[in-house]
Amino acid sequence: MTDLVVVGGSDAGISAALRARELDPGTEVTVVVADAYPNFSICGIPYFFTGEVRPWQSLAHRTAADLEAAGLNLRLDTLATRIDVAGRRLAVRAADGTETSLGYDELIVATGALPSHAGIAGVGALTPEDGVHVLHSMADTFALDRDLAARRPESAIIVGAGYVGLEMAEAFVARGMRVTQVQRGPEVLSTLDPQLGALVRAEAEAHGVDVVVNTTVTGVERAAAGLVVTGTHAGGSFRQAADLVLVVVGVRPNTGLLVRAGAAVGAGRAVVVDEWMRTGLPHVRAAGDGVVTRHRLLGTTYLPLGTTSHKQGRVAGENAIGGDRAFAGIVGTQVVKVFDLVAARTGLLDREARPAGYAPRTTTTTADDHKRYYPGARHIHVRVTGDTRDGRLLGAQLVGRRGSEVAKRIDIFATALYAGLSVERLSELDLSYTPPLGSPWDAVQLAAQAWSS
Ligand SMILES: Cc1cc2nc3c(=O)[nH]c(=O)nc-3n(C[C@H](O)[C@H](O)[C@H](O)COP(=O)(O)OP(=O)(O)OC[C@H]3O[C@@H](n4cnc5c(N)ncnc54)[C@H](O)[C@@H]3O)c2cc1C
Repeated sequence: MTDLVVVGGSDAGISAALRARELDPGTEVTVVVADAYPNFSICGIPYFFTGEVRPWQSLAHRTAADLEAAGLNLRLDTLATRIDVAGRRLAVRAADGTETSLGYDELIVATGALPSHAGIAGVGALTPEDGVHVLHSMADTFALDRDLAARRPESAIIVGAGYVGLEMAEAFVARGMRVTQVQRGPEVLSTLDPQLGALVRAEAEAHGVDVVVNTTVTGVERAAAGLVVTGTHAGGSFRQAADLVLVVVGVRPNTGLLVRAGAAVGAGRAVVVDEWMRTGLPHVRAAGDGVVTRHRLLGTTYLPLGTTSHKQGRVAGENAIGGDRAFAGIVGTQVVKVFDLVAARTGLLDREARPAGYAPRTTTTTADDHKRYYPGARHIHVRVTGDTRDGRLLGAQLVGRRGSEVAKRIDIFATALYAGLSVERLSELDLSYTPPLGSPWDAVQLAAQAWSS
């Protein structure tokens, strides 16, 4: 019987623990979680703030009771502090300060990531009580919720216009707040090419968000006017006040436990793992936002996402009890809803493909989401990137209205990338068609044909 200890109770940790129990119900699985909220869907937090998902308990993928019924021993409010690799023991500290250690046969570390402060002065020193927030955990969620209820802020500055920032802009607008969204680059959602990012910005602006691009925030301070965000804007200076500041500028891997035990860090300063999720430390695997990711087009990269964390966790759990499963790797598929628009991407942009040694070319197509004669047809904007040397599909980006099946259409491209198809072969796929839902040549295929012609 294997004694498996898992550190971390979010996507990667719980996936690992459940997989191990599923494959071998005889495995003794203990999950050590720093807080009291195992298996919460942090991806759903923005929808708690829009008010669409209430109460907060609904965000649980599974309750603690569900997890215990599946055979997991939960050690909640317990911080893992040190790994004794040679002795196969994990030192832990309970909320009351009691220190103890757990023996293990196999250990999986899934301590995830922490919100980045991006070197912005004042963030960290100013707290949620001051009205300055980050958003990654349920504790962050409760702190923001308390602040919104207690002070009823009327204005917010959101630093960052990535997917979390955009989702939170929508949430604050839904609560009647005035929102300024500050972005360092020339366009929001820098994971897309600016041509498509501009459509997302227009959607946010149409809903009243004041989007300020080309602005690097360097500080947040308290002043008589409220909280003041300072920085540089297009060569000049930027200074704006608001009642509340939310900093959502990405994450940094939470690797202290593993690094102190001797694990190596690589891309994005995440812990290096191989495809079997081994860290190189004997009997210690790792998965999720704290580790590097195998990317099928790029090799090794760092791209922290919930989907990847679930898959890596499942692989780690299987291998910890004697399995031999290699993580197949990602292709970087992402999707976000911004008000009534959906933006998605998979694979590589032109500017990412070139330094990776490809010879990319990208074309833009606008197609209908279904036959125009049937009511409600909307445009989908598609950018397809392929390699000019061999026609291989390298990536795709889509922007369309909510309800236009943008997410499922990007998944067609993602599947093609996984299979290593050429752009041209997308036209051969037997995709479904009925006039209210599609066209004989789907938007995906029209975009592929435009690239190939
Ligand atoms: C607002 C928001 C929206 C998102 N939306 C999406 C989305 O739509 N799609 C998507 O794919 N991804 C999304 N993500 C990203 C996704 O949520 C993360 O990639 C995923 O949750 C990472 O899971 P993880 O298990 O690696 O780590 P984390 O979720 O970071 O969890 C780490 C776990 O480890 C515990 N822990 C940490 N240190 C210790 C310690 N020393 N001892 C014990 N326990 C410890 C923590 O308490 C926690 O349980 C979103 C993230 C946020 C914040």
